[in-house]
Amino acid sequence: MTVAILALQGAFVEHQHMLGRLGVQSFEIRQRQDLLKSFDSLIIPGGESTTIRKLICEFSMYDDIRERILGGTPVFGTCAGLITLSKEISGDVTDADPPLKLMDITACRNGYGRQLGSFFCRSDFVGKNIPMTFIRAPFIESAGPNVEILSTVDGKAVAARQRNMLVTAFHPELTDDTAVHEYFLSMSRTAPQT
Ligand code: GLN
Repeated sequence: MTVAILALQGAFVEHQHMLGRLGVQSFEIRQRQDLLKSFDSLIIPGGESTTIRKLICEFSMYDDIRERILGGTPVFGTCAGLITLSKEISGDVTDADPPLKLMDITACRNGYGRQLGSFFCRSDFVGKNIPMTFIRAPFIESAGPNVEILSTVDGKAVAARQRNMLVTAFHPELTDDTAVHEYFLSMSRTAPQT
């Protein structure tokens, strides 16, 4: 199995390390051409969603990434990646570059506040109690009927799945716990080939 990691900006190296620990091959997507390579699933990392969205548009990757995901390729968005995959953004919206509008959620950007929004806690993710690191994180403000909420913290949804799309508002790649990546890899193994 090979996982492609969108490496335009943000915490992509940490995902590479996590996948390496799990014995899974990965490579970086830095330009449009890289999307032509063969891969089984895709990670959109945390970082600055305004920059990631801007670069996706600037590098003409918007339609290609959307088509891949609409075609069934599993995708995992962490934090800024959650915002990038969402249908709508609320909260701290600062620019015009659109999100990919794929997952039926409204992401409240910087929902915990800009400065004081970083914290650590533990909560359940698909039946496992795991460590969660939040860094100027969004939360899921609302979700459509086809979205399954996988984790909540203080009554706010912070992990969710819709068909081939998985998102977390926190950063599992910054902890030692492999549960979320293992869950994503199992989604990737069972996805129909595209
Ligand atoms: N606040 C960032 C944004 O809006 C997300 C932070 C993160 O990915 N850790 O894009």
